[in-house]
Amino acid sequence: MKMTTTNNISVIGLGMMGATLARLLLQQGYRVTVWNRSVEKAASLVKEGAILAPDAAAAVAASPVIVICVHDYKAATEIFDTAVVKNVLRGKVLIQLTSGSPQEAQESEVWAHQQGAAYLDGAIQAAPSQMGRPDTPIFVSGAEDAYRQSEAVFQVFGGRVSYFGEQAGAASAIDLASLSAIYGTMMGFLHGARIVEAAGFRVDTYGSLVAGITSTFGDFLQHEANVIQSGNFEISESPLKISVDAMERILQQAKDAGIHSGFPAYAAGIFRQAADAGLGNEELAALIKVLRA
Ligand code: NAP
Repeated sequence: MKMTTTNNISVIGLGMMGATLARLLLQQGYRVTVWNRSVEKAASLVKEGAILAPDAAAAVAASPVIVICVHDYKAATEIFDTAVVKNVLRGKVLIQLTSGSPQEAQESEVWAHQQGAAYLDGAIQAAPSQMGRPDTPIFVSGAEDAYRQSEAVFQVFGGRVSYFGEQAGAASAIDLASLSAIYGTMMGFLHGARIVEAAGFRVDTYGSLVAGITSTFGDFLQHEANVIQSGNFEISESPLKISVDAMERILQQAKDAGIHSGFPAYAAGIFRQAADAGLGNEELAALIKVLRA
């Protein structure tokens, strides 16, 4: 399998993100070949210097490194899994920046290897307008030699590139884990907004109070992560039983105020299981023992 450090890159998929990736590469002096199902989305990039390939196979054939960023893996498969594309994939490095699951990444890698291509799977944790900044986070996993040779390309997309090793699904798994933290926090935040509304207070004031504690909360999450990693759940910051009681109060308040109780009912249930399992006098992070069961 041949892998190349190159100035020639093809970008397939010119939606909001794909077009941004192509533009960033052009701005850094790369020779960029593009293809998109709807050809009109290539027009402005062509004006900026991109070369428009007549079809996906021509785009793949044009460069040793292929970046694909389309809606989902199903769309990527529709583009790539044709005899003409498969014919030209041998020896290429395929960089998959479409969002997907770890399973999809692993299957994609197997498929790419069957075609004789090296495979890297990436997850972008930023909006198109935030791409290319020194603090833009990009997660990558897959064959290390392919990564080392394509690292410069990822650096064009974002200055905070994290490589998580050879397992193709790792970038996607860590992306989903971070999203889980965001959505979990968002659910708690929105439930809090309902508490505030029901009590007749301003949600924007509540928002700034929560914004004010995010930095210390971040430190607290890091501490709990360290506890889990160490396996030592002796109380070091916050006894789990405090949170068992707090969640019960949040649930009771939802019932008293007649607001939606889905989130506190779920969370209080998990905390109750932890208390029933005798974890009350361990560090808060011991809740993970319930989730592992
Ligand atoms: P988008 O603007 O909706 O563009 C979707 C792209 O997928 C277009 O190029 C579209 O082609 C193509 N596509 C969809 N179905 C197709 C099919 N069956 N065959 C061929 N092409 C198909 O989406 P986007 O924002 O660029 O997002 C692309 C990927 O980046 C997604 O996986 C998304 O999760 C990820 N991402 C996006 C953001 C963001 O903020 N935008 C952030 C992080 C990650 P047409 O133009 O022909 O429809």
